[in-house]
Amino acid sequence: MPKFLLTRVDALARLAQFTPLAGTAYATRRNFVRADGDHADVSRLSAALRRRVVGEDEVVRAVLAAHPQDRAEKFIAEVFWRTYWKGWLEARPGVWVQTQDQAAQQQANPAIARTAAAAIAGRTGIAAFDHWARELAETGYLHNWARMQVASIWTFTLGLPWQLGASWTYDRLIDADPASNTLSWRWVAGLHTAGKAYLADGDRIAAMTGQHLRAEGLASEAHIPQDTPLPPRIALREPAALDPAKPTLVLITPEDCSLETVLPALNIRAAATVRDLAHSTADRIAQADALTRAAAHWRCPALECSDDLSTLACAYGCTQIVTGFAPTGPVASVLARIAPALATQGITLIEHQREWDRLAWPHCTTGFFQLKSRIPGLLRQHGIA
Ligand SMILES: Cc1cc2nc3c(=O)[nH]c(=O)nc-3n(C[C@H](O)[C@H](O)[C@H](O)COP(=O)(O)OP(=O)(O)OC[C@H]3O[C@@H](n4cnc5c(N)ncnc54)[C@H](O)[C@@H]3O)c2cc1C
Repeated sequence: MPKFLLTRVDALARLAQFTPLAGTAYATRRNFVRADGDHADVSRLSAALRRRVVGEDEVVRAVLAAHPQDRAEKFIAEVFWRTYWKGWLEARPGVWVQTQDQAAQQQANPAIARTAAAAIAGRTGIAAFDHWARELAETGYLHNWARMQVASIWTFTLGLPWQLGASWTYDRLIDADPASNTLSWRWVAGLHTAGKAYLADGDRIAAMTGQHLRAEGLASEAHIPQDTPLPPRIALREPAALDPAKPTLVLITPEDCSLETVLPALNIRAAATVRDLAHSTADRIAQADALTRAAAHWRCPALECSDDLSTLACAYGCTQIVTGFAPTGPVASVLARIAPALATQGITLIEHQREWDRLAWPHCTTGFFQLKSRIPGLLRQHGIA
């Protein structure tokens, strides 16, 4: 299995290696799934992009330097799917909370839990599904097209709740992302685009895997699960402005692991990570790499903090903590909890939002095509195309 791209050196090396394939080759081959686990036709950059070890703008810029825009269109659109899901969930954060609550309730049902456990262990008797369940367990990665088949078979053939499936893959994927994971499962289940589900098909699975994987006895109809009413849409959060003069502690979280490439000039005294903000070993590797880079870039101490950020900030005379914007997910929940406590100590916690998100998220309120039609304009605004 190829190694995961959790350090910036590795991610940039993979980007350089993959860039020549991001044009026509990607458009024609990206949906073929190699059963041997060699996913050379796709970038495998998701673990890095999810944590912003590299930024979407950097990836798209590199690809457009190598290909005319019309040839790279497919790849660029896929990168914008990540943006779309993020922006969509940002306006409906309740969907993330609701999905987690529902998965916990489903897991407490012994019959559901038993069937789910057999599926997760790769014991359904559906060869392709079992193969991918094992691949996920062993590697933490699945090709996008395989993820679609897995989610579809789980929901429509095995009759398991999609929320529990989303919880399974979120716990196992190295690129686990609240928005892309939760909303892709909803999309497969037919809940994102009302009435339009994704139904896996055995012949197509055989064809797309070069006849290596079989899936017999699949559901021939998608019985779309009943949806709970969506929590109300809220206004997008607008982070407060940074104060360039204030003594600042830079907080690195798994939500933005290349802050040194995007932050404006600040009075930085130290850079830190907080152990509890890492959800997985992969997060910890990416955070540690980002911390080392940040300390070298700003020539400041690199601090690994167990939890008490205010003590750390005070020790370095910092009255401002700057971190990457945390979209809906575990890091955002922690930041929302600690910000008021920091404020009582005279320390402001500011999330720095990337231009990429600020410009795109307002166009993520309905379907993907609302955003897609704006991609050329957005790229011009970034000076990329
Ligand atoms: C059920 C299901 C669950 C998923 N869960 C996650 C998840 O937890 N985390 C995650 O990052 N992606 C998730 N995806 C989206 C997608 O499968 C992965 O981003 C992609 O497979 C990563 O491989 P890659 O980097 O080689 O992609 P490439 O094909 O090389 O695409 C380039 C980049 O575009 C983005 N991208 C591509 N396809 C999608 C997509 N369908 N949705 C959103 N972004 C996309 C990713 O950032 C990816 O790195 C999920 C998809 C499905 C169907």
